Amino acid sequence: TFKALLATQDGKTVSTRVVDMSEQDLMPGDVSIAVDYSTVNYKDALAISGRTDVIKTFPLIPGIDLAGTVEASSYPGIAVGDRVVVNSWGLSQTHHGGYAQRARVKGDWVVKLPEVFSTWDAMAIGTAGYTAMLSVLALEHGGITPDRGDIIVTGANGGVGSIAIALLSDLGYRVIASTGRLQESQYLRDLGAAEILDRKTLSEAGAPIARERWAGAVDSVGSRTLANLLAQTKYRGVVTACGLAQGLDLPASVLPFILRNVTLAGIDSVNAPQHVRVEAWSRLARDLDLAKLARTTQVIGLADVPAIVGRIFEGQVRGRTVVDVNA
Ligand code: NAP
Repeated sequence: TFKALLATQDGKTVSTRVVDMSEQDLMPGDVSIAVDYSTVNYKDALAISGRTDVIKTFPLIPGIDLAGTVEASSYPGIAVGDRVVVNSWGLSQTHHGGYAQRARVKGDWVVKLPEVFSTWDAMAIGTAGYTAMLSVLALEHGGITPDRGDIIVTGANGGVGSIAIALLSDLGYRVIASTGRLQESQYLRDLGAAEILDRKTLSEAGAPIARERWAGAVDSVGSRTLANLLAQTKYRGVVTACGLAQGLDLPASVLPFILRNVTLAGIDSVNAPQHVRVEAWSRLARDLDLAKLARTTQVIGLADVPAIVGRIFEGQVRGRTVVDVNA
């Protein structure tokens, strides 16, 4: 048997508890993994709280991320002993996820970890960090380079935000961090932010087009913040959108697109094709400072997951949370 955090549903209410499960409770898949670590992302909080119906079938083990060592595999290219990471796909939606000591998944979902990363590093990065890298790749794809101007990162104290700041500053960009937690300014500066902006200045309705301030943006907030980012982006700039921490609406105008040639680049981590994932993980291996990563991360046990979920919605959690499933 192995330990797992299992989610069940009673009416609209989702609840979780740590249970003992056995191998035959796992779902079909061609790769079996001894899990070392999982993580808590915003989407995990949505799933466990039942705020949105992330989990499509109950009972289910939540957890959109896992990292561990392959115990059995019939999938070409994945062998026993390989250290691997799985981000999203069906995890915590239709397939048992990372909050367990064992996992069985489709080989198509598995990425072999770059040598430099331990399974702990992989989960300190997690879906949030890999999404931050997807956002950086989208800026580069749009032709953004450090000499074009500043990059603003919203939701700066969150998982995506923290790792985006670390990545961009080490790539030579001047980074503006937008946050509602000005008391965490020193943490943001230590990650590489050159300037801290109070998120209030971006979160209210603004002009459809305004003074040009940044060459690019990494946004995990959406809503009026995203509209204001677009309105203040320089000519031929790129804004990436991955999140909805403020809201899923976008009350913007077309003026930034038609007057300033601004690009709005969508970012999806869940169904990103395998070659994109492999590129993101290899760029993380090249570009992410592991000392900065450690600074963003706290570690908890399986039984601590439900408590931290409430704190995520209160904006109390800083950076990344790793779950040690064997603690
Ligand atoms: P997180 O760690 O909880 O960070 C979210 C951050 O957003 C908070 O730390 C806070 O930063 C800011 N925030 C919270 N409420 C806000 C509000 N009402 N208005 C403005 N800012 C607010 O979450 P995460 O895991 O980094 O994920 C961030 C977002 O990206 C989520 O919406 C998540 O669903 C999305 N996401 C999407 C993908 C994808 O595939 N598209 C992948 C990963 C994440 P400050 O305290 O610094 O202001």
